[in-house]
Amino acid sequence: MSADIILPERLREATFHAGFDGSNEAGAWVLCSEVKISTDPWTKLARTKLIVQDILPLTIGDIESSSQTHLTVRTTSFIKVLKYAQLHNLVPGFLHGHPSGHADFSLRDDDNERKLWQAASNRNGKEATLVSLLVLPDGTMRARVWDSSKNPISVTVATNGSSRQFLTPILVNSVCESNLDRQTRVFGDGFNNSLHNLNVTVVGAGGTGSPLAIMLARSGVGQLAVLDPDHIEASNIHRLHGASYKDIGRAKAEVVVDHIQSIDLAVNAKACVGNVLDADCRDLLKASDIIFCATDDHAGRMMLNRFAYFYETLVIDMGLAVEPEGKRLIRDMTGRVTMIYPGATCLLCRNIIDPLRAREEELLRKSPKEFNKQQKEGYVIGGGDPEPAFIAMTTSVACMAIDEMAQVLSGFRGNKRAVTQRLRRFQIPEDRCSGGAPEPDCPVCASTEYWGIGDINPFLDRVG
Ligand SMILES: [Zn+2]
Ligand SMILES: [Zn+2]
Repeated sequence: MSADIILPERLREATFHAGFDGSNEAGAWVLCSEVKISTDPWTKLARTKLIVQDILPLTIGDIESSSQTHLTVRTTSFIKVLKYAQLHNLVPGFLHGHPSGHADFSLRDDDNERKLWQAASNRNGKEATLVSLLVLPDGTMRARVWDSSKNPISVTVATNGSSRQFLTPILVNSVCESNLDRQTRVFGDGFNNSLHNLNVTVVGAGGTGSPLAIMLARSGVGQLAVLDPDHIEASNIHRLHGASYKDIGRAKAEVVVDHIQSIDLAVNAKACVGNVLDADCRDLLKASDIIFCATDDHAGRMMLNRFAYFYETLVIDMGLAVEPEGKRLIRDMTGRVTMIYPGATCLLCRNIIDPLRAREEELLRKSPKEFNKQQKEGYVIGGGDPEPAFIAMTTSVACMAIDEMAQVLSGFRGNKRAVTQRLRRFQIPEDRCSGGAPEPDCPVCASTEYWGIGDINPFLDRVG
């Protein structure tokens, strides 16, 4: 089994708190949801993402004995956790801290956890999995997964949400460190390695998506995918990066990725010609750590808006809205970058998605005949004039989005200056930030019910 663990940033403090109790070792039961990726598009291998959903600190009754150097829990107490996990389709786990700073699992830990895994497989079946997390006083972690194989496997833990950071040690790529030294001078040690270990999908390869994908590749993102169903037209060339008139008629995603490949960077870049709503794009989305949404499409955006919360994945959404006034004057010209993750306000509550347009787009995708019929009858508006656009502004929005990613990876502005929405008003000109508040009845961002729930049936709890 190949796995990695996502610790939502909002649970980070509670996780470390649970591992220490004065000078004695302390611990907690852990519950994780599962995300099954049948084929990771970059490695072509199957893997599982485990999302930490809950940390339940141990009660006195759960502890058999504890000291400064050990913690033994009662297997009988674990049964209630196993029961709950099975009922809710979750993976059970155990977390403990080493106040001594000893940065590895001890022989006693092996013994203790083997017993817990045995209890899990006796109760929940041979395929049972046990997650084990070790927290250290320096804020780092060690993690492993016990399954039917004889020995546990070491796995990585990374936070996601307002910050993306590896909490377990990862291999450092020395080549990328030296070529990207100028970036280290801006964002510090570890920044390039974070990029190198990042799986990023750019949805939309147009005026904003094309410069974005190229800049991500040049800055050292290790795994990159560009997803777009459209083909290049002559009217696109004035704002597409990496495209020429010879490319007219070719898929936008392929042209951008070909351009990236011609630069010969250390990036595993994939072009995906398809719609983000297609079921066969799900593995790609699930395998991504960050998804940039650079499309005009409301239906795709509506799906990604849910995906961010269900799969605890940062979605960075972008837009450029131009409102002309008369022939040459501009009433409003706003570039927008919005960060969506559990804890931030969603796009529906910010009135960024038009649900009616989303419905029309889904209808057009699924049944063009029915769409045409409803359009004739005046039930759908559809299409309309193309949006105004200018290369400097579409590219500027891509730059803003990468700034926000750099903040998530490095915290260069300080954690207090992380923003969830940034607006660039070109006609004023100035930048603004806006927090936004969830609508009280929003099932996605006002309630925590779906946060990090992972794979459920139907996908994203959406029928149809
Ligand atoms: Zn230990
Ligand atoms: Zn909402």
